[in-house]
Amino acid sequence: MRIEIDRLAETGESFAHTYGPDELSLEDEYALLKGETHVSGRARRKRDEVSVSGEIKATVEVACDRCAGPVATALEVEFNAAFIPRERAAGVTENVELQEEDLALSYYEDGAVDVDELVREQILLALPLRQLCREECRGLCPTCGKDLNVGQCSCRQREVDPRWAALADLKREE
Ligand SMILES: [Zn+2]
Ligand SMILES: [Zn+2]
Repeated sequence: MRIEIDRLAETGESFAHTYGPDELSLEDEYALLKGETHVSGRARRKRDEVSVSGEIKATVEVACDRCAGPVATALEVEFNAAFIPRERAAGVTENVELQEEDLALSYYEDGAVDVDELVREQILLALPLRQLCREECRGLCPTCGKDLNVGQCSCRQREVDPRWAALADLKREE
């Protein structure tokens, strides 16, 4: 979906779009969109500067930090972004009227704001840094890679070398 700048009224226009399950890709090897993704918002224009604010609802599947199993996360992201034409990228900082402190500044090309790209970026920014399939996930065995949620593997527990144990004691005393 694109917002054509020429046709955008200066008073602003509302927009909404629902992406089907395969319509939008996050283009990220660790995050996958599941089901439908909704975006809605309002675009405003001041000459060639555009501000877009709104909300995204999506379900994203990422890999569990410990066991790499799939974890689905429902996201609701509010965004507020400002766009100027790519050609003006050079003189950016001096005079962008729509820019506010909390506003992310982006560029548009070919006379239109790429909403797909905006949605993709906003979702990736909103993803939690660490995600566990559940709090008590036991992860993978560091030796054989078996998923320890499924069952214990046959690797022997590493015995603690007494010298390391003594060092650990020393650290605790510090
Ligand atoms: Zn896990
Ligand atoms: Zn193992």
